[in-house]
Amino acid sequence: MSNLEKAPPEITGEPEPVPASGIEILAPRDVPLGGPRAMTVRRTLPQRSRSLIGAWCFVDHYGPDLVADRGGMVVPPHPHTGLQTVSWLFAGEIDHRDSIGSHAPVRPGELNLMTAGNGIAHSEVSTAATTVLHGAQLWLALPDDARFGTPDFEHYTPPAVAFAGGVARVFLGSLLGSTSPARTFSPIVGAQVDFVAGAEIDLPVNPEFEHGILLDSGSLSVDGSAVETGHLAYRPAGSSALRLVVGDLGARLLLIGGAPFGEQIIMWWNFIGRTHDEVVRFREQWQADVVAGASETGRFGKVAGYDGQPLPAPELPNVRLKLRG
Ligand code: MN
Repeated sequence: MSNLEKAPPEITGEPEPVPASGIEILAPRDVPLGGPRAMTVRRTLPQRSRSLIGAWCFVDHYGPDLVADRGGMVVPPHPHTGLQTVSWLFAGEIDHRDSIGSHAPVRPGELNLMTAGNGIAHSEVSTAATTVLHGAQLWLALPDDARFGTPDFEHYTPPAVAFAGGVARVFLGSLLGSTSPARTFSPIVGAQVDFVAGAEIDLPVNPEFEHGILLDSGSLSVDGSAVETGHLAYRPAGSSALRLVVGDLGARLLLIGGAPFGEQIIMWWNFIGRTHDEVVRFREQWQADVVAGASETGRFGKVAGYDGQPLPAPELPNVRLKLRG
């Protein structure tokens, strides 16, 4: 997934205080993914009032979309630095290729985790057999001591863990006794949780984590606050259970959480850095080495097997990029 937002909200300074209910509801905005028949995604993170939930810094949610109507996903090779991408599908299939030689399908219920570290490039294209595309892409910011590490790609299929009221698939971290082996660099959790109609659960969670609940389908309240489909409910750290009350249609959600990140980041286009000048350098290297074709062995390498041109970086804004978080 590539960030093609034309006018991202300016996100600076401190997050706003959480409402007295203890739950902050983050509404999505529609963002086109780009391309001639651009599908749109619903972006709930980052936004003005909040940049990070733990290390989670980017939440795009899409579909269910009929590929025949919406064009599917066609994202040409583009770069990343300083982050991990977490691809998670509910329906459809995406073909992933990257510049460290990975070529893998993204399928429902299976984690594809790409660690950009020092730099990587990848392409993402929904497969010809896909009629309905439905899923999410999330990014994790890498802490300063890991952000120039070796790029990596992992695949993991979590078991479906049944509990009273539902089923969980824990793709990162630990929840309900299920632990993912996928490598992360700060204390975090990520899971798909499906609830039966009428479930009322006190879901045990790490009290040191802040959490986000993205409602994919159905109806739900979190600690007494109703959440609409496609919205992200944020709850700060400090409590060892999430009170979830599910409506008559059941509910499917993504639970994300983590220890407050504790570092400020600069996020611009597909790069995460710490200074304006660093991001300028990442952009220059992508444009020179890959878009202009000067080197296949630079920071971002080359995505083999993609039939088409890489995505050029947009122009930088005329102001210096600001730290957030
Ligand atoms: Mn991407």
